[in-house]
Amino acid sequence: MFHLSSRCWVTLALLPVVMAATGGAAGARAGQAPVREAAPSPPPDDRYKADILVVVAHPDDETMVTGYLARAIYDEHKRVAVVYGTPGNSGGNAMGYEQAAALGAEREIEARRAVADFGIMNVWFLGGTDTPGQDVLRSLETWNHGRALWNAVRIVRLTRPEVILTWLPDYVAGENHDDHQAAGVIATEAFDMAGDPTQFPEQVAAPRDRSGIGNLTEGLRPWQPKKIYYFSDASHVDFLRGRGPEYSTLDVSPSRHVPYYRLAAEEMAYHLTQGDTGQLARQALATGHLEYFQQPVYLVMGKSLVGGSPTGDIFENVTDHPLPFAPVRGYQPEARAGLWVELGGPWAFYRRFWKAHNLDHLATLLPQPEVSLSDHEVLHLPVLIHNDTDSPAEVVLTVAAPEGWKELRGTARYPVRAHDVYPVEVQAAAAPSPSGAAWQTVSLRAQSEGREIGSITVRVNVVRSGGLPQ
Ligand SMILES: [Zn+2]
Repeated sequence: MFHLSSRCWVTLALLPVVMAATGGAAGARAGQAPVREAAPSPPPDDRYKADILVVVAHPDDETMVTGYLARAIYDEHKRVAVVYGTPGNSGGNAMGYEQAAALGAEREIEARRAVADFGIMNVWFLGGTDTPGQDVLRSLETWNHGRALWNAVRIVRLTRPEVILTWLPDYVAGENHDDHQAAGVIATEAFDMAGDPTQFPEQVAAPRDRSGIGNLTEGLRPWQPKKIYYFSDASHVDFLRGRGPEYSTLDVSPSRHVPYYRLAAEEMAYHLTQGDTGQLARQALATGHLEYFQQPVYLVMGKSLVGGSPTGDIFENVTDHPLPFAPVRGYQPEARAGLWVELGGPWAFYRRFWKAHNLDHLATLLPQPEVSLSDHEVLHLPVLIHNDTDSPAEVVLTVAAPEGWKELRGTARYPVRAHDVYPVEVQAAAAPSPSGAAWQTVSLRAQSEGREIGSITVRVNVVRSGGLPQ
């Protein structure tokens, strides 16, 4: 079934022919010139059709799923296209001095060569800039969220993927790169927008004359993908198990006669500016120590518009019939009364984002909010104090940090106007646990007039060094 707008095109293209056949107003009569036959209307360009669209943030991010893609491409003959949010213009360079934009220029080529090794030629970059950190909202800002989404929706309409694979839009303890999360947010938004002809309508309007110059509408068709799956860079995989399909990389490819993990290692070895991926893969291939690549590929089911089991194969129930646009719930304001507190920033965003995009189950992935940070770093916890009453109120916030930590700001008495929100930034300098425990707990209590109005608990994985600034 084609979407209404694509049907409109067909109708318009056939109109002269139909009118001729029915002897309409312009129909041929004796002595008049016959109605000319219109040229056929070309279909979407099949060279760009993808079964799987991988949407990631940086060159080398695709290596999270290459253990699966090797199977899909070589043995299931799926067509794959890749979108990178940024050229990976931050981070160390294991090859030389090139940095910043020059590093991005190198990494774009490394990425193109790497995926070309898998036969993937359709590769696009969204124009974002590499923004090391853990707060997705900061990456959405530096990427120019609107422009990146405009590009992503275009690529979904051009590649018409059945399935999108992308980073998990959630705050996890681990690498938790904010660019990764931004890729997942934008891919999810594009999944839900590309089928709607009112979103970026300039992309789906037919050109005035496709053979001429100066066409400023794009001639794409709306497209509704069928499934979206997520993968994660969390430091623990417990919460991913059973939430989607899991693909072993140990199986031997029937067509290539080597295990999928070896194909994944060969693909990764192109990313040579990156010490912990390209160089690692090159070394592993040279020594034959490929254990790193033998981990399964874990995916989390985001949503399926064609049913099937969450843990079933990615292409379960997927046929080549186009789907009509499937609108999501969208943002619905929550009716709350009284005084209440919540974790703000990216946490508050995700709670609303998941609901708005019919991804409610993502709220149950992690039992409680979690963060990873280095032991010399400052923990930042944004908190929102809501006053949904008709009177101003005073709220006392108390921070309970673990032993050895130093609270820098947070504990105070906050005046909150009626029907307003007071945004608070809690900060505490982290310290390793005296007992050596990996996880520590930070708690916040909010009280008003001696009455408890809410509390927040976050578990913090304090690592010796490394990781991204929070
Ligand atoms: Zn990355």
